[in-house]
Amino acid sequence: MSQPDQTTHFGFRDVPLGDKQTLVNEVFHSVASRYDLMNDLMSMGLHRVWKDIMVNTLNPPKSDAPFALLDVAGGTGDIAFRTAKVSGRGFHATVCDINENMLNVGRERAVAQHLDARVAFVEGNAETLAFPDRSFDGYTIAFGIRNVPRIDLALKEAFRVLKPGGRFLCLEFSSVEVPGLDRLYDLFSFKVIPPLGRIVTGDAESYQYLVESIRRFPKPPAFAGMIRAAGFSRVSWQTLSGGIVALHSGWRL
Ligand code: SAM
Repeated sequence: MSQPDQTTHFGFRDVPLGDKQTLVNEVFHSVASRYDLMNDLMSMGLHRVWKDIMVNTLNPPKSDAPFALLDVAGGTGDIAFRTAKVSGRGFHATVCDINENMLNVGRERAVAQHLDARVAFVEGNAETLAFPDRSFDGYTIAFGIRNVPRIDLALKEAFRVLKPGGRFLCLEFSSVEVPGLDRLYDLFSFKVIPPLGRIVTGDAESYQYLVESIRRFPKPPAFAGMIRAAGFSRVSWQTLSGGIVALHSGWRL
């Protein structure tokens, strides 16, 4: 159990560890209905490319071979839908997210895309997954892990629920280290995204949190070390779009 005086980050603020999840839940509760639109506007459509790179890296079977994917912090279902569309008939995805509002948007999208038989939505916490040991072939988490208060617990749970031979993939914002692009990116993040959030969702604070939380997330070598510490092997990463995003990979061997 965590000690009552332990603190963590909520964006640039230090908050009691036990308060972070409530604050994060308020963010996604507030933005759920406009979340997908805001993703397109903020990333100028690039999040689609990054997600497709993650799905191609996962490379699920195109055959009838069974493949069970767990997409944690899966929100409105983007990763699960994209993977289902390139997979064979043996594919099934479980989207697990702590926020019922995000899941409800995802359920509606699944029906609209006729994917509701292949993609299930389940409420749950990445730190304490309610799935048996060794039950999934793939575990994905996109733009989710930096919101989880105890990342080490989430990584241990990822390892636990994967079958031996299963793959862990994490897509997350990273740090831009291209001279010139870094300043432009900071300017866009802090001066454009929160006001855009206000216009589109009526909530600038949630988007202020999002851009701040990106800056507090560990850099790729440190995050790779955390993935290894959870038990994963052959841990690697690639940065995308000048370091705006990093895709980490690990295997349960
Ligand atoms: N993966 C989706 C995507 O790429 O569009 C959604 C990402 S969204 C930025 C972050 C998601 O993480 C939200 O839906 C939020 O509810 C979820 N989340 C935050 N903390 C979580 C936790 N402890 N366990 C599971 N999901 C969590």
